[in-house]
Amino acid sequence: MEQTYFRRGLGLKKEIEPVLAAEYHSSLVEQIRAQGYTAQFGDITIRLAEDFGFCYGVDRAVDYAYQTTHKFPDRRIFLVGEIIHNPHVNTRLRESGVTFLYPDAATGEFDFAGVTSDDVVIMPAFGVTMTDFKRLQDIGCILIDTTCGSVLNVWKRVESYAKDGFTALIHGKYFHEETRATASQANIATGGKYIIVRDMDEAQLVMDYIERRDSALSRDAFRAHFEQKASAGFDPDRDLERVGVANQTTMLASESLAIAAAVGRSLAQRYGADNVAAHFRSFDTICSATQERQDAVIQMMQDPPAVMVVIGGYNSSNTNHLAHLCREYTTAYHIADATCIDVENGTIRHKPELAADAPEVLTEAWLPHGTLTIGLTAGASTPNNKIGETIERVLATLKPVMPST
Ligand code: SF4
Repeated sequence: MEQTYFRRGLGLKKEIEPVLAAEYHSSLVEQIRAQGYTAQFGDITIRLAEDFGFCYGVDRAVDYAYQTTHKFPDRRIFLVGEIIHNPHVNTRLRESGVTFLYPDAATGEFDFAGVTSDDVVIMPAFGVTMTDFKRLQDIGCILIDTTCGSVLNVWKRVESYAKDGFTALIHGKYFHEETRATASQANIATGGKYIIVRDMDEAQLVMDYIERRDSALSRDAFRAHFEQKASAGFDPDRDLERVGVANQTTMLASESLAIAAAVGRSLAQRYGADNVAAHFRSFDTICSATQERQDAVIQMMQDPPAVMVVIGGYNSSNTNHLAHLCREYTTAYHIADATCIDVENGTIRHKPELAADAPEVLTEAWLPHGTLTIGLTAGASTPNNKIGETIERVLATLKPVMPST
């Protein structure tokens, strides 16, 4: 019987290795890394954060996607959403013949009507919702599951909350693929509930309600505010009595921890410190790769460079958080890729704010002259070749010819 579900690759890792190296490797980046993450180019110092770029989950997802195109050259291959939030990687997959399925803007639902049992469907590193997984299984197509192990860990937490009668309070973006998939895991138990908070301000609305503060929203206003961010029929009077905290793996770790601690204090306030164990659970579910990239930036900012360049898709949650961290210490530019840097005109296109949909702006004369240290980091979905190209453009902006290291 034909194997229809692949979760551990397709046995073509060795064949794919040179393909991935040719497409995503950067010898310049490797050289700087080998020199202790710093390189001198005349009076310009380039510093790389000590953790940056592709994480283990993205490495694996991209590897499996390429293995899929080699294993099934004669079949139609679909991808649910984007494999990762990097435009360059997604373009390369499209060029390899993979068709991307996007959710309906109004309903958020994927349309699998065109998928048949002869097709191959890749599920991204973020995972898919329980409903979508079931629909794909019912079609009977070949499924390539690249869901990251760190995302699966969060799902286990949400499932255990639901089975034990706790509402999962998820720190994340309600529209993000990973958070939608994570929230859906509450459905593992009949009546499982979830509520999604974007940040501490939104968590505060939940805490005000738990503590029945005068400032709390009314029940109707609360339901209206969280209509798209909570499970169907969410009733704050009933569903905030027992709360377990989880998070989208790529949020700002410090904010996730602060929200969990604050929600714990709020439930202790409402039900008494002695009873809090019956009302509150929490596990830090930020993935280690996200944590390490954020820690590396914090370490770098002990002695901040004059200018920081952060490379990654504008819709990449972890890249946005890296840029946000950098802005607290120095002038930071979040760029999608090296083409944002116009060497001729000395300009840079960048996204100056945290929100994924914030508009890109153009800044002129963005690099000061003279002795200068420029720092770089990149989100977990940014391949090394895009970092290398950025370094080359930065140096070309400052110097007509890039000296070798
Ligand atoms: S950022 Fe973390 S959770 Fe997401 S794919 Fe990478 S390792 Fe997995």
